[in-house]
Amino acid sequence: MKKVLVLAALLASFAFGKPLVYVLATGGTIAGSAAGGATDTAYTSGAVTVDALLKAVPQINDIAVVKGEQVANIGSQAMNNEIWLKLAKRVNELLKQKDVAGIVITHGTDTMEETAYFLNLTVKSDKPVVLVGAMRSSTSMSADGPLNLYNAVNVAINKESKGKGVLVAMNEEIHAAREVQKTNTTGVATFKSPNTGKIGSVFYGNVKYYLSPVRAHTKASEFDVSKLSELPKVEVVMGYANVDRAMLDAAISSGAKGIINAGVGNGSLYPTAEEAFGKAIKNGIIVARSSRVGSGETTRGGETNDDKFGSIATDNLSPAKARVLLMLGLTKTNDKAKLQEYFYKY
Ligand code: GLU
Repeated sequence: MKKVLVLAALLASFAFGKPLVYVLATGGTIAGSAAGGATDTAYTSGAVTVDALLKAVPQINDIAVVKGEQVANIGSQAMNNEIWLKLAKRVNELLKQKDVAGIVITHGTDTMEETAYFLNLTVKSDKPVVLVGAMRSSTSMSADGPLNLYNAVNVAINKESKGKGVLVAMNEEIHAAREVQKTNTTGVATFKSPNTGKIGSVFYGNVKYYLSPVRAHTKASEFDVSKLSELPKVEVVMGYANVDRAMLDAAISSGAKGIINAGVGNGSLYPTAEEAFGKAIKNGIIVARSSRVGSGETTRGGETNDDKFGSIATDNLSPAKARVLLMLGLTKTNDKAKLQEYFYKY
């Protein structure tokens, strides 16, 4: 009996002093498994549980006390508003606990940047929240998930990660949620921040920061989803040569409160889009001009006179992130000037 007590005390003393990190798992390639083995390019996302993920990286136990929770187990192409709300609420709940140092969220890479930005605007804490994933499945040769996960936990427990908003830690780089984008469909070095660059690096757990995000986030964000069970409907439509008006009208008549145009160049509009959006604006739908280019600003009053036309310009947010901000913006106001301000503030 005495021996057991001594052992328990010893174990407690090991755990004591180590920060507590929650790993919230949502699926993705990091939890993917290929039936054909190490070189199979076809695999199923979200096949591995959070416990199995953590078991694959025992080194994490040397640096933190880790608790895993399975929030979803999907390929992130199936991510939706409902899971975002659930995730934001759970993150806020956990971060209110004094003993929780930070949170790591494992996630598919396809929509990781959208989830990161949604949380960046809805988490009410300056404790670190770090998204991580993998480009190679857990059964693949040179799987990148284990080291990415180890690095992400290191980022989550690092004191300098506090107050930097939601972060994405992938392939030894740390990116700010607002800036990060997946830029390559298959390569491990896919996450980049085209407008600003990465804000830090994490090399075998060694964290270094070079920049801090300047746009408002987390504690300074005015968006509160704690009492929401759904978000206003906002859709994205693509700009390209010869756009058929029927595509645009379908989006406009879908019940959307807002439309993001992933326009060509500086968010410019094909003539059919100008007609369709002009009508939508008159009917009270918020139309925001973004760009499909992938970097750079969509400027207010570029080739479209937004003042006259009644549209909003999305600064340098990607169309998918502009949708996130417009959904949250519409939970507060329908005022176009205010919504435009959000795009400069966040
Ligand atoms: N479509 C999958 C997802 O986003 C694969 C991408 C990944 O996780 O790397 O979950």
